[in-house]
Amino acid sequence: MSAVPRDYRVYVAKDYLKFSAAHFIAYKGFREPLHGHNYHVSVSISGTVGTDGYVLDFGIVKDITRRICAELDERVLIPTQSDCLDVVEEGPSVVLTYEDGARFVFPAVDTVMLPIMHASAEELAAYVLERLQAALREHEVRGLTEIEVGVGEAPGQAAYCRQRL
Ligand code: ZN
Repeated sequence: MSAVPRDYRVYVAKDYLKFSAAHFIAYKGFREPLHGHNYHVSVSISGTVGTDGYVLDFGIVKDITRRICAELDERVLIPTQSDCLDVVEEGPSVVLTYEDGARFVFPAVDTVMLPIMHASAEELAAYVLERLQAALREHEVRGLTEIEVGVGEAPGQAAYCRQRL
């Protein structure tokens, strides 16, 4: 083996790393109609290869990502940091009021509250990345240099968020 340091990357994009969810993009002056996607999630993790021969166990990445997808599956994605949507929990319901006064009311159990500003593929990728990074810390994985998460809304249409560690 070469003595020159090499960077390795593992990539996971299984068929089951997906979630079906409803969302709409909203920012000041613009709101999409409520609609849904069958989202697909991919994960790339770069790092050095350890004495065990790998960057990290694929199984860990698959398990964590599958759990995150399950939390988002069959839910309405609520961007709680929005600057144009008021989000209020009222008993068993979540009420969203857009800046023009239009309201959505959803059963709270049908929603997932996300600490993001817009329910875009980009911000969803950043959210999944943060959750993945936090979960990987608990596994004491060493030698990682970069994580990239892709969230695809449709075939051939995905957003990626990458973070150097
Ligand atoms: Zn959409």
